[in-house]
Amino acid sequence: MSSTLADWLKPVSASLSVSQAHAWLIAGSGAQGQLELALAVAKASLCHDDAARQSGQGCGACPSCHQFDLKTHADLKVILPEVLGLETGWPLENAAARDVEKKKRKPSSEIRIDAVRELLAFCQLTPSGPRDKVVVLHPCERLNTASANALLKTLEEPGERTRFILTTQAESRLLPTVKSRCLIHRLAVPSPDQTLSWLQAQGVEHDAAALLRAAGGQPEAALALHQAGWNAQRWSGLPKAIRAGDVQALSDLPMPEVVGLLQKICHDTLALVHGGEPRFFAPQDLPTKAHAWRLAQWARALNDTARHAQHPYHAPLMLDALVSQAQRALQDSHVH
Ligand SMILES: [Zn+2]
Repeated sequence: MSSTLADWLKPVSASLSVSQAHAWLIAGSGAQGQLELALAVAKASLCHDDAARQSGQGCGACPSCHQFDLKTHADLKVILPEVLGLETGWPLENAAARDVEKKKRKPSSEIRIDAVRELLAFCQLTPSGPRDKVVVLHPCERLNTASANALLKTLEEPGERTRFILTTQAESRLLPTVKSRCLIHRLAVPSPDQTLSWLQAQGVEHDAAALLRAAGGQPEAALALHQAGWNAQRWSGLPKAIRAGDVQALSDLPMPEVVGLLQKICHDTLALVHGGEPRFFAPQDLPTKAHAWRLAQWARALNDTARHAQHPYHAPLMLDALVSQAQRALQDSHVH
């Protein structure tokens, strides 16, 4: 994951960093750089240099910024789903770190209640530096019922000098009681020109437009595709490869991602068959004679699978099954 803050988020970081609000909720639909923004606000809020703080980015040179960069800041708590914590290097809560290290259980894709309970103690501490303590929690929709209720208690009685920066990629799924305790900043969608030039500055050169489309217009997600080795050619060839039953085209991907990609192909083929505009692929990349009814059935089956795709299935078997299911759904409508 990129730690670079996109240009259009810098002014947002500046205004949130100097705000006095006790809790912010940064909301956007899908990945719009919420975590990068929340971390930038946290770093700037904790920075000892006033000018840097007002600019919305830490100075990078003071003791606070140094501890932040080492991910060991005593006045900062970053709470993520365990899988994301492991991916980004932010430390897990102690007991969780032990369990995962000893392989007692798999890292969770939810925000577990133990991580939120640890917050209660953190909130009672006096800040070790000159600034208020900061809690970053990303993304709120990964709280389960128990951990959301624990968070509510903390938001109601935040203890001493603690600021909360919460994020969400799916605001409609949050408890109204959590939302009502925060000021909400809804991220604006950047213009295509802004996102293309930002992607180019990140090293995504001639494939920027295609990957942006592949990511449904979300620049952070487009950058993640690039970093995962996708390019325009591989992307545009994907629907035809799946229709031909080419399991290899997906075999290096984690299962939730496979399901997400098949959902995109399914969505776009359905749109095309109904005379609409595909969203993720160019029309010429998609089968045009598929059967609407079979596609609708496939869409339902994929939704069911998506709900369980985090679980440890036998991945190769599941991949074979998903690709044959896709192949059946994408064949021409006169084939029986
Ligand atoms: Zn600093």
